[in-house]
Amino acid sequence: MSVYSKIDKYILIPIADKLTGRGLSKEWRLMERLDMASEQALRDVQNQRLQALIQHCYKNVPYYTKLFDRLGLKPEDIQCREDLQKLPVLTKQMVRDNYQDLISLDADKRHYQKGSTGGSTGTPLKFMKDTPTWNMQWTSSFRAWKWCGFEVGEKLFTLGGNSLVKKRKLWTAKDIFDVVIMRNMKRSSADVSDEAMQAHYDAMMRYKPKALRGYGSSLVILARYIEKKGLPVCPIKLVITTGEILMPEYRETMERVFQCRVLDEYGCGDGGLDAHECIYHDGMHIAEERCILEIADKEGHVLPDGETGHVLATDLGNYVFPFIRYTVGDMAYIKSEKCPCGRQSRLLGQVIGRAGKLLYNKQGVPISPTMLPMMLYRDNDYHNEANCAIYNKIDKFQIRQDKKGDIRVLLKLKDPKEDRKLFEYVITNYENHFVGSKVSLEFVDEIPPMPSGKEDYCISEYEYNR
Ligand SMILES: [Zn+2]
Repeated sequence: MSVYSKIDKYILIPIADKLTGRGLSKEWRLMERLDMASEQALRDVQNQRLQALIQHCYKNVPYYTKLFDRLGLKPEDIQCREDLQKLPVLTKQMVRDNYQDLISLDADKRHYQKGSTGGSTGTPLKFMKDTPTWNMQWTSSFRAWKWCGFEVGEKLFTLGGNSLVKKRKLWTAKDIFDVVIMRNMKRSSADVSDEAMQAHYDAMMRYKPKALRGYGSSLVILARYIEKKGLPVCPIKLVITTGEILMPEYRETMERVFQCRVLDEYGCGDGGLDAHECIYHDGMHIAEERCILEIADKEGHVLPDGETGHVLATDLGNYVFPFIRYTVGDMAYIKSEKCPCGRQSRLLGQVIGRAGKLLYNKQGVPISPTMLPMMLYRDNDYHNEANCAIYNKIDKFQIRQDKKGDIRVLLKLKDPKEDRKLFEYVITNYENHFVGSKVSLEFVDEIPPMPSGKEDYCISEYEYNR
């Protein structure tokens, strides 16, 4: 363990916990203690957390009080993950329709952050996330990184979307966490030109990180650039990919260029899921202490292991805005076998839901749809009132890449008479992201659903025809 990792673990994080009352150290100890725990021990923690969450929801969250009463259920009827089937699934539309009712009545006593994500209908989904879930999310990652030899406190270099790059001068608690505790240097992956790659490379070589993290599709561009130029690379222990499906070819390229392991992570910001690969790279260990992941059919009936279905998420840490059996929008399956590493958590097999939604820039590099809704904000200050005011004028949107390959952004405004010039920044935002592509902005009266009847904010005809 490096000196800084020790300082982090035994001094900085405990001090931060004392100052903020956040409890990251405690959760971290629990995650480490349960790392090689028996299936029963994992189940016990999961059940205990589920029961506490359900009690809380029935008492404090109007949506669930009404739901339980309507179904004639008592909180005691939900004791373990199998019991969850007594409850219906929670769709994005239901979250949107019941936003106020999903907020816990004791929210003002809790420390939380507001979040937003692209909903499947193209209307952004707003939610809240409190400290326990934030702690669980980070510590389950800390644990998984350690499986592959990287410890928090060692330098991290992140290549991510626009939102990762700090714009404001003022330091927030999050910035301090990033810089002081995580030692995380973040750079924007929006520009994929050779000049930008050289700048990333130079920064990386000066900083000498021990791990790289980001979208696989961004990190692979850097890897290809380094390979093309025959540049030397500082010793790196681990590449951590997140946020989109990792293509096998990307993994091979990164392993070859950075001469280290690639650890793929699966998570969803809203539903509170986390799953991580271990050194066997054969499925992802579900962080059972932190979430309940179910694979179900459309009606919410759980499918047997090995069968592909909808991913449902129950976040065991989010008390301020609880997600129970939330349909994430991905399809996946759970493996029937346990991992040879000996860990008893279930293994999530191939996640396939997000495939079929990749868009491509002019260089043919796939772009994950995850970030796209956020680019409808004028800039990345998502809580700025002026930004929100313009953004809130949008009723629905859709981002399309048709056969030719350029990008079309369709907007349906709440008031069709709104000044359209207000939205011109949308073109620039998308052009910055899809380097070299032509972006057109179209104002429409309606956004029709897919032939299947499902609504979708991101449609890539091009992907099927390329
Ligand atoms: Zn394993």
